[in-house]
Amino acid sequence: TATLISGRELARQIHREVQSEILEMVAQGYRRPHLSVILVGNDPASHCYVRNKTRTATALGMSSSTVFRPESVSQDELLDLIDSMNRERRVSGVLVQLPLPEHISERAVCNAVAPEKDVDGFHIVNVGKLSLDQRCMIPATASAVWEIIRRTGIETVGKNVVVVGRSKNVGMPIAMLLHSDRRHERPGGDATVTITHRCTPRPQLKEISRLADIIISAAGVPHLITADMVKEGAAVIDVGINRVQNTTSGELCLVGDVDFEGVREKAAFITPVPGGVGPMTIAMHVWNEGLLEQL
Ligand code: NAD
Repeated sequence: TATLISGRELARQIHREVQSEILEMVAQGYRRPHLSVILVGNDPASHCYVRNKTRTATALGMSSSTVFRPESVSQDELLDLIDSMNRERRVSGVLVQLPLPEHISERAVCNAVAPEKDVDGFHIVNVGKLSLDQRCMIPATASAVWEIIRRTGIETVGKNVVVVGRSKNVGMPIAMLLHSDRRHERPGGDATVTITHRCTPRPQLKEISRLADIIISAAGVPHLITADMVKEGAAVIDVGINRVQNTTSGELCLVGDVDFEGVREKAAFITPVPGGVGPMTIAMHVWNEGLLEQL
């Protein structure tokens, strides 16, 4: 059976590194990193994510502040707010929690954040740099997957990787990191990467995933990856977070995209949900926040 990769343990490792990095920076006379967050509306999940991020940031020696705006906020007001944060010297990182209400363009908002303060890595300049293998702010979920693979010692060079999901914030940047050249400015994984998505027929997904040395699922579909789709000895990284009702108890619980019990019998490595990519994503987010000044 598979070795369970603890995202919580790896996240603690990252936290320690960020914390000592900040201590050293401050000791050398650099400003303490400050994260400014904008949170629109009252979606409980968004509030929970923001609380987690700012709490972690302060626990590791940064300062942070959150500005709340109602669902009805105008795009112009939001852009003005971002502009003032861009200009404030004390603010090293700006984070606008997504999703935003329908009447606001997320692209316009992401592009309004100064690229050098863009802790999410969603600004068009950071996306462009990522695609060109240049040093940049990398979206936290993608660097979470990358660090999990690196720190577990899973080989990627010349390996077959399947990334399930092609979203611009998750699937695409994961594929970008893994397929690119390890000798470039921002080193990649040198893997042979196949990207699958909602139009990939299930039988074809199975054919491709059975050849994969690493399967990374970021589709948001429970039980999408089953044991019959996994090669013996593969590494399976589950990015998906799905709220499902337990059939016997009726309780709501969190599951990933991977049929965990079945797949763990065949895989060599597997990440659990919760406790896998989730905590590592928060850790890589604070990593971005803490290390902005050095970019
Ligand atoms: P999204 O809805 O934007 O994208 C989902 C992607 O999956 C799309 O590209 C779609 O084409 C693809 N897809 C849908 N059904 C598929 C199928 N049957 N086969 C193959 N591909 C299929 O979602 P997202 O923002 O990319 O997030 C993906 C999942 O990861 C969600 O469950 C989300 O909650 C989770 N997530 C987790 C973390 C974390 O920290 N662990 C962070 C971000 C997102």
